[in-house]
Amino acid sequence: MIVGMTQLEDLLDRNRSFAMTNAKDDGPAIPFIPNMQAYIITCIDPRVDPAHVLGLNFGDAIVDRNVGGRVTPAVLLNVGWVHHLHTELAPAADWFEIAVIHHTDCGSGLFANEDLRHAFADASGLDEAALAPLAVIDPAETAAADVRLLEESTLIGSQVAISGYVYDVATGIVSRVAGNPSG
Ligand SMILES: [Zn+2]
Repeated sequence: MIVGMTQLEDLLDRNRSFAMTNAKDDGPAIPFIPNMQAYIITCIDPRVDPAHVLGLNFGDAIVDRNVGGRVTPAVLLNVGWVHHLHTELAPAADWFEIAVIHHTDCGSGLFANEDLRHAFADASGLDEAALAPLAVIDPAETAAADVRLLEESTLIGSQVAISGYVYDVATGIVSRVAGNPSG
């Protein structure tokens, strides 16, 4: 699509500007040990970009995003793999901590819409029963539930602090609703 290409050309121009700065040299020496040792799980919604909402700088955090910011098997695999690399390859390094951030007005809430969910299950071949629980209707409740999933995972050791938050898209405020950050 020509419109899309034009937009992407603009982004590639921004990339050339980025490449001319030293920003790319500020990343962590070990990629799975980000500068602020944060592992952020959140929604793909463009209003919820942690670089802006949390003021992340380049290399500060691992950011793992999906619809709703849910702790799915794929996310558990990602976190588990980072944990494994950390344990095996950098045992002396400070541990990362995990923040689950769900948000108000989340599009994942539409998984609760029967018509939309049913049609999507038909089109995708995915199990409709597995889609319904992905809906974020009450972000405080789902963030707390996903923190519990991480706490119960055998892939993640007790050294890893895990906490859950709600981002309010109307106020811009992130509030803690579950768990405790380290320190
Ligand atoms: Zn969302």
